[in-house]
Amino acid sequence: MSHHVLLLGAPGAGKGTQSKKLAAEYDLEHVTTGDALRARKDMETEYGTPREYMEAGELVPDPVVNEIVEAALSDADGYVLDGYPRNLEQAEYLSEITDLDAVIFLDVDEEVLVDRLTGRRVCDDCGANYHVEFAPPEEPGVCDDCGGELVQREDDTEETARERLSVYRENTEPVIEHFRQTGDLVEIDGEASPEEVFDRITDVLEEE
Ligand code: AMP
Repeated sequence: MSHHVLLLGAPGAGKGTQSKKLAAEYDLEHVTTGDALRARKDMETEYGTPREYMEAGELVPDPVVNEIVEAALSDADGYVLDGYPRNLEQAEYLSEITDLDAVIFLDVDEEVLVDRLTGRRVCDDCGANYHVEFAPPEEPGVCDDCGGELVQREDDTEETARERLSVYRENTEPVIEHFRQTGDLVEIDGEASPEEVFDRITDVLEEE
């Protein structure tokens, strides 16, 4: 069984949804740079605040993100890493601080990603994810799990979503290619249902 799991994929590919389920099922730490940065949006750094980059759909500078990941991984025994590395420099840094047991890529077509991102709603209290059309809550705007308010992330507007996808193509696709070349990458069809994707991932993890 793998304890150091990396989930790769574009924004909207389902990394967050699947990571949460994996963390619960296997008692792993869910290490997600997106959530960590959202919790520190206004932190002053020598590069400015994370907010400026996030609202534009750009990458937060590597030193800021690397430090967050190093601290999170050093506290974790087993983990599922989500949202990092997003460029080759981060991938190099990651290889210096930990060893991975499984690298999984959730493959989803670009137009599907735009629809998923722009329709996504997130619970303001517990972080559960919904989609207005594909995975609606029982009552519009209200979280099924905790009754919290469902909100749209500021960077899930169409314009910023498209910018994030272009940043992904330019910076993160080379990371996928890197792991493909090392022979570590396991590719999964991310357009299958969340349950099917989860089953595929658990099959891979239990094979290792
Ligand atoms: P996410 O929730 O993973 O979609 O991330 C939201 C935003 O946080 C991204 O658009 C980036 O601005 C920032 N971010 C998250 N992870 C990273 C990372 N590994 N490197 C740089 N910026 C990141």
